[in-house]
Amino acid sequence: MSATLQPTSNETEAGYAGVRLRDVRKSFGHTEVLKGVDLDVAPQEVVCIIGPSGSGKSTLLKCINLLERPSAGSIWVEGVELTDPSSDVNAVRATVGMVFQHFNLFPHITILENVTMALRVVKRISAKEAEKIAMRQLTRLGVDSLSHMRPADCSGGQQQRVAITRALAMEPRVMLFDEATSALDPELVKGVLDEMKSLALDGMTMVVVTHEMAFAREVADRVVFMDDGRIVEIGPAKELLANPQTDRLRDFLSQVL
Ligand code: ADP
Ligand code: MG
Repeated sequence: MSATLQPTSNETEAGYAGVRLRDVRKSFGHTEVLKGVDLDVAPQEVVCIIGPSGSGKSTLLKCINLLERPSAGSIWVEGVELTDPSSDVNAVRATVGMVFQHFNLFPHITILENVTMALRVVKRISAKEAEKIAMRQLTRLGVDSLSHMRPADCSGGQQQRVAITRALAMEPRVMLFDEATSALDPELVKGVLDEMKSLALDGMTMVVVTHEMAFAREVADRVVFMDDGRIVEIGPAKELLANPQTDRLRDFLSQVL
C-alpha cells in the first residue's frame, strides 16, 4: 500500500508549514507580560503587530527566535518545534532572522565582517564563500560600497540595510522586524520600508512590529492588535484598521493615525 499524505483536517500542530504559536506565555519574575498568545502566520504571509508601548510586542518577537524562552506554550516554524528543549538555538536563529530598532551591529568590526560572522560561526561556511554571499546580499540592498567601513561611519538607514542584509544572508525562512524604522531620521524611513516591502513581495514570511500604519495597511495581509500581553484583535489589514471592533483598538488608532 502506498503512503498517503495526512489530510489537512487531520493536520497536527507540527504539520503546519508556517509559523504557529500556541498559548505562548512569558513572565519576568512575577509579572506575566505574554498571557497566552495563539497565532498562525501562513507561508509568505506578512503580519503586522501594532499596540501600545509595553503590550508585549517585542517580547513576542524575541520568543519567535528564542532570544527569550517562553515560560509556557509552543512555537513551530515549518513544523519544527522551536520550544522543544532539545531544539538547537543556533539553527533557530538561522531560520528566523530578526531586525531591531537600534540595528545592533557589532561596532568594532567592518560592515562586511558583520554580515559574514554568523555565516562563518553558525553555518560554518568558509571565509571566502561567506564573503561572496555577503557581497551579493550587500549589493542587493545597495550598501556594498560600505563593506570596509565600520557601522559608526554609516547613516542609520545604511546601518539598518546592513542589519537586514546580515539577517538575509543566513537564508531565513521567516523575518521578524521590531520597529525597524523607529530610530531612523524621517528622510531615511521610506528607503528601509521600501526594502521591507520588496522582501514581502518576494514572498518572505514576515512578522513586523511597526507604528507605520500606512505600511501596515498597504503591505500586511493581516494586522494583530496587542494590548496587555494578549491579542485583542486580528484581521485583514485594511478591515481591521478601518473598522476596529474594540474601544481599546479605537483609542489606540485615534492616537497613532
Ligand atoms: P512592547 O514591545 O510592546 O513595548 P515589551 O515586550 O518590550 O513591550 O515589554 C512588555 C513588558 O515586559 C513591559 O512591561 C516591559 O517592561 C517588560 N519586560 C520586557 N523585557 C523585560 C525583561 N527582560 N525583564 C523584565 N521585564 C521586561
Ligand atoms: Mg517593543
